[in-house]
Amino acid sequence: MAQRLRVHIQGIVQGVGFRPFIYQLAHRHRLNGYVANTPKGVELEVEGGRDALHHFLKELPTSAPPLARITQIETEELPAAAYSTFEIKASEEGEERAALISPDTTSCSDCLRELFEPQDRRHLYPFINCTNCGPRYTIINDIPYDRPKTSMAVFTMCDDCAREYHDPLDRRFHAQPNGCWNCGPRVWLADSSGEELKISEPISEAAKHLSQGAIVAVKGLGGFHLAVDASQNEAVKRLRWRKGREEKPLALMSSSLEQIERYALVEDEERRLLTCSQRPIVIVPKRPENTIAPEVAPRNRCFGVMLPYTPLHHLLLSHPFLALVMTSGNISEEPIAIDNLESVERLGKIADYFLFHDRDILLRSDDSILRPAGGQPRQIRRSRGYVPVPIFLRKPVAEVLALGGELKGTICLTKENRAFVGQHLGDLENLETLEFLELTVRHLRRILEVSPRLLVHDLHPDYLTTQMALAQDELPTLAVQHHHAHVVSCMAEHGLEGKVLGLALDGTGYGDDGCIWGGEILVADERNYERVAHFDYVPMPGGEKAIKEPWRMAVAYLWAGLGEKVFQDEQQPLQRWDRDQIGVLLQMMQRQINSPLTSSCGRLFDAVAALVGLRDRIAYEGQAAIELEQCMEPTTDKYHYEFKEVEGRMLLSATSIFTQVFDDVVSGVAPELVSGKFHQTLVAMFADACLHLCKLHGLNRVVCSGGVFQNVFLLENLEDRLEASGLEVYTPQLIPANDGCISLGQAVIGAASIAE
Ligand code: ZN
Ligand code: ZN
Ligand code: FE
Repeated sequence: MAQRLRVHIQGIVQGVGFRPFIYQLAHRHRLNGYVANTPKGVELEVEGGRDALHHFLKELPTSAPPLARITQIETEELPAAAYSTFEIKASEEGEERAALISPDTTSCSDCLRELFEPQDRRHLYPFINCTNCGPRYTIINDIPYDRPKTSMAVFTMCDDCAREYHDPLDRRFHAQPNGCWNCGPRVWLADSSGEELKISEPISEAAKHLSQGAIVAVKGLGGFHLAVDASQNEAVKRLRWRKGREEKPLALMSSSLEQIERYALVEDEERRLLTCSQRPIVIVPKRPENTIAPEVAPRNRCFGVMLPYTPLHHLLLSHPFLALVMTSGNISEEPIAIDNLESVERLGKIADYFLFHDRDILLRSDDSILRPAGGQPRQIRRSRGYVPVPIFLRKPVAEVLALGGELKGTICLTKENRAFVGQHLGDLENLETLEFLELTVRHLRRILEVSPRLLVHDLHPDYLTTQMALAQDELPTLAVQHHHAHVVSCMAEHGLEGKVLGLALDGTGYGDDGCIWGGEILVADERNYERVAHFDYVPMPGGEKAIKEPWRMAVAYLWAGLGEKVFQDEQQPLQRWDRDQIGVLLQMMQRQINSPLTSSCGRLFDAVAALVGLRDRIAYEGQAAIELEQCMEPTTDKYHYEFKEVEGRMLLSATSIFTQVFDDVVSGVAPELVSGKFHQTLVAMFADACLHLCKLHGLNRVVCSGGVFQNVFLLENLEDRLEASGLEVYTPQLIPANDGCISLGQAVIGAASIAE
C-alpha cells in the first residue's frame, strides 16, 4: 500500500546540489514523486512503501550534500497520487528568492583529485569546482543564485561544461561557477605595473619568483593576498616595510597539516578547525624551534595559519614551500583590494608581481580567524566561509539594519528569525572602509531582500557610522550603547530571553554618561540595561593617544591611585619614562584637558603591560594585552581587590589593583609573575562580583562579551569559576567577542524596540 509524503525543507538548500541529492536518495529507496525549489527552500513529494519512506526521511538530514545546511524539515501525509517516476522540477524565474545563499567553500576532495589527475580534462585548472565546493557569496550580484547573476555571466560554457551543468546526476549540475580550460576564467602573471608577462605557466613562474624572495600579489577568492616565502626573513621584512605593517602577525598558508606541524603545535581542536570546510586562519602556538622567518610574528607565541582553499592555492602550494605568508592585500587598515586595475594602483608599490585572474570578485571577503578556547571554536574575525550564514534568532523579528561599531566593523540585517552579520569590514576610520560598508549594505539588502524599517547605530557621536546614520532620512534611527550591544549579541547567538547579568569587558565604548566605558557589568535584556557595576574612572591623558601609548595609562592609574608625589621619588619603573612628558600628562589630567574618563578593562591591561616593561607603545589594537597574556607564569597568588558601593552601583577598583602591581614591580617581581597574579585577580574579582550581583538581582545567567574575552585564560577560568558557583555562563562562539559582534546586538535591540 503506497503512501505519499510532502516534505518542506528550509535552510541552505539551493545552489548546493540538493535536488540531485534528493533525486538519488529517492531512487535508492525506490520512491516516486518530485523535488522542486520554492521561495523558502525545497519542496518534495515521495510516494512508496512505509518502510522505504521511513528510511528516506531518516537518511535525508544525515547524508545531505556538504554545503547544505538544513534548518527545518516539515512533513505532511497525503492521499496516494500514483506517481510513476521521480523527477526534478525546473525552477521558474523568481522562485528561488528568499532562500539562503551558501558561503564560499574550499575545494572538495573530488575536485582536488581531478585537479591533479593528468587524464582529467581539468588537470591543473585553477578554477575547478562543483556543486559541493567553490565560490558563492563573493561572486553573486543578485538573486536568484543563477549564473547570469554572478561574475561568471561573462563566461559562456563550452559543450562539455554545459552538459555537466544540465545533467541532474552530474556533480556539476547547476554549479554556477562551472568552467574549464576551454571556457572558464584564466590566470596570468603581470609585473608590478600590471603589464602581462608572456609566459605559458603563470603559477609555476609565480612560485619561482616567490622562491627567489619576490612579493607576489595573488588574486584569490575574496580579495588579493600579498604572498612571500615565509622562510625568507629579508623578504618578509621587505613586505612589512612596504605594507606599513610594523608588528602585527602575518598569516601563513601551508600545503598540508604535516607541513604546518613542522613549525607549529597542532592539537586536535586546531586540526579540526584547520581542516573544516570554511578553512579559516587558525591561531596555533609556535614550535619553539622552527624555520619560519622571525619577522612573520615577532614577539608573539603563535602563528596564524591556514590550509589552501582554492584550486589556485593548491597549485601554488604544490611547489616546495614550507609556508607562504598570505596576508591581506591592503595598506594597513584599508579594505582588501579585489579589482585587477585597482590592485595595481594600490598594491603596485608593494608587490613585485601580480598573479591575476579574470573572474571578478563582487564582494570582498577577508580570511576568517578562529581559535579554540574553553573547548569551543571562537571567532576572532568572521568573514569568508561563514558569511552569509545567519545567526538563527529565537523568534521572527522586524527587519532592521545595524551599522555596528567603529573597530572591526560589521553590519547586520535581520529578516524573519535570521540575523545576517556581514563580513569583517575593517576599522571604520577612513572613507574607503565606509564605502565598503555602504557597498556591503546595498549588496546584502539586495541578495537577502531585506527592507529595513529602522537604522541602528552606536551611541558614540563621533563614529563615522553614527554620522552616516544621522545624515540620511530614509529610515528612523536608534542609538544603542556599545556594551548593551555586546551583551545582547551574545544573548542572541544563544537564544536567551529575559534579564541576564552581562559582563562586558573591552577597550572602548561610549557610555551614556559621556565617559569611555569598558569594564562593565549590566543587568540587561533585549530592550534595556542597567549599569550595576563598573571599574572606577581614570583619565586617559591625550584621549586616543593613550590607547596607542599604554605608558600614558600607567601614569594615569598611578596618579589616580597614589597621587602626584609618586612621580617625585626616583622609583625604578618610572625612570624609563621621560620626566617632562610625565609632567605634561599630569597637567593634562589635573586640568582635565583632553583626558576623557574611562572604566575600560582593556586600558587596565595596557597599563599593566607598560608598567612591567613589556610595551610602552603599541603597533596594533590589543598588542600590549596579548603580550601580557602570553608572558604569564601560572600562579595561585593574586592581588587584594575591593568593591565599593557608590550611588547604588558597585565600584570595582582598578586603581587599587594597579597600585599593588606597582609595589610588586618596584620590589622586583618578574613581569611573568605579575601577569599571572593580575590575571588571577581579575578572574576572582569578576567571579565574586557576578555571584554577588546575581544574588542581588535574582539572576542565574551570566553573559560575557567584549574584546578582553579573546584572552583565553580569562575566558576559560572565569567560565569555570562561575559555573562552579552554579551559574549558567554564556560566551561568544559563532560571532567574535570583539566589536565584530556589535552590529548583531544592535540589530536585536532595534528589532525589540519595534516589537514594543
Ligand atoms: Zn568540488
Ligand atoms: Zn568548459
Ligand atoms: Fe567593544
